[in-house]
Amino acid sequence: MLLFDVKVVTSRFKFLMMELDYIEHLSPILKDGVKNYLIDIDGTITDDVPNEEPERMVTCEPYPDALATVNKWYDEGHQICFFTSRTENLKQITIDWLDKHGFKYHSVLCGKPRGGNYHWIDNHLVRATRYKGKFTDLVEKQVTIEVFKD
Ligand SMILES: [Mg+2]
Repeated sequence: MLLFDVKVVTSRFKFLMMELDYIEHLSPILKDGVKNYLIDIDGTITDDVPNEEPERMVTCEPYPDALATVNKWYDEGHQICFFTSRTENLKQITIDWLDKHGFKYHSVLCGKPRGGNYHWIDNHLVRATRYKGKFTDLVEKQVTIEVFKD
């Protein structure tokens, strides 16, 4: 006499394998409280240098409050990605500048569309903060945003 029903165990096993398969095919999610910071460069952590003036990308100075805040976020365990409209051919100049000034970061993404007025649509949670001259820790504020209709 069996102590378990083979059909039930087989069915449960198949269900668990399907669950594992489902989990393995989802994109990874960061641990609770960890943020994926995507941070602009020109006009946000340093002067607004256009791609047409790459020589200024070498000599511009970082904004001290941006440097301190970004490095603090990195030290707290957040992901730091610089997301810039600088083109791929300017990536090494950018990395050298970030390293020279002591920025802590995980990645640099070039090729962000130029022109501003960004509106990001994603299946993941997205928050946006416009830089207006002070780079500090973030605070909560009630604002009006545009969303899809329910
Ligand atoms: Mg900018």
